[in-house]
Amino acid sequence: TMASLPTKMKGVIIEKTGGTEVLQYKTDLPVPSPGDGQVLVKNDYVGVNFIDTYFRTGLYPAPKYPYILGREAEGTVVKAGSGELYGLKEGDKVLMLSEGTYAEYTAANAVKAVKVKDGLEAKVGAAALLQGLTALTLIREAHPVKKGDWVLVHAAAGGTGLWLVQLLKAVGANIIGTASTQEKVDLARKAGAEHMINYSHEDVKSKVMELTKDAGCIAVFDGVGKTTFDLSLDCLARKGSMVSFGNASGAVPPVTIGRLSAKNARLMRPTLFNYIATREEFEHYVDELMDFITEDKLDARIHETYALSDVARAHNDLEGRKTTGKLLLDPSK
Ligand code: NDP
Repeated sequence: TMASLPTKMKGVIIEKTGGTEVLQYKTDLPVPSPGDGQVLVKNDYVGVNFIDTYFRTGLYPAPKYPYILGREAEGTVVKAGSGELYGLKEGDKVLMLSEGTYAEYTAANAVKAVKVKDGLEAKVGAAALLQGLTALTLIREAHPVKKGDWVLVHAAAGGTGLWLVQLLKAVGANIIGTASTQEKVDLARKAGAEHMINYSHEDVKSKVMELTKDAGCIAVFDGVGKTTFDLSLDCLARKGSMVSFGNASGAVPPVTIGRLSAKNARLMRPTLFNYIATREEFEHYVDELMDFITEDKLDARIHETYALSDVARAHNDLEGRKTTGKLLLDPSK
């Protein structure tokens, strides 16, 4: 067995909702103990996701206070709990989706943890898991994308955006992406979005209609939310799927369903967790994602690895649209 575990750890909690000032970096949080169906993981890298900012601001309610933020990490199992652990044991390198990952240690549900595939470089799993699975389930289930489909991806240079672009390219879609700066436009184009539009000053709808010969896109993947919703419907093809999967610019206001009849459109508002609710679904999509990463040589673009104590800057950068790709936290610092 491993050397004895410490009783205190570094971590970031919130006790109330608000701006980045409510993020409290602590060095004396209790190390959790793994319960039934759980493993205790010492986190090497922790993924930052836009959803973490929603829990901080209160757009999504935290289940309790004080609350440790964070939804994903890569690390090492240091203690096994009881019950069904899906074969995980002490010493295993794992990727996991779990609450409470903005910390040195997390008691994670084994059902949403998997061993790191041999040969996968450090950080890649933490950069890929939540956003890569989101992108993959969206193109497989929210709208099953086929070769040759015209699709529109907003915020194509973001974390989820770059996974969407790379996966859509791998399945042979015609990708139109949007982003707010020239640097982001160039990056997403390099990742596989052949047609990029700078939506801070270009007319997206007319460019989409020009590219698609007035047909529009059969699917729009919109994680921007409030500011792009109407535009996305405008860019949709007849019988197209409007996949609204996030709120980076704010929540989409209520929509009158009658608006969908103009194009016989489908409107989806999916979350990753409802596509990977069972162990079978989770393993299926993790395997498929890892196969894409290794076989199609998908690139986990890491914007920056921030010290955990620097978490406020990470949130400011993400919400301030200053980042491309993935933000990670190093919980040892
Ligand atoms: P990103 O790395 O994509 O960052 C958000 C991006 O959104 C920014 O970089 C920015 O790109 C764009 N954006 C447009 N308007 C704004 C605004 N007003 N404020 C901030 N950003 C803006 O983050 P994630 O990949 O973590 O998440 C992307 C979206 O996907 C989020 O809405 C998130 O909630 C959602 N999501 C949903 C999941 C689900 O299960 N439904 C799972 C994972 C993510 P630009 O400057 O180019 O406009």
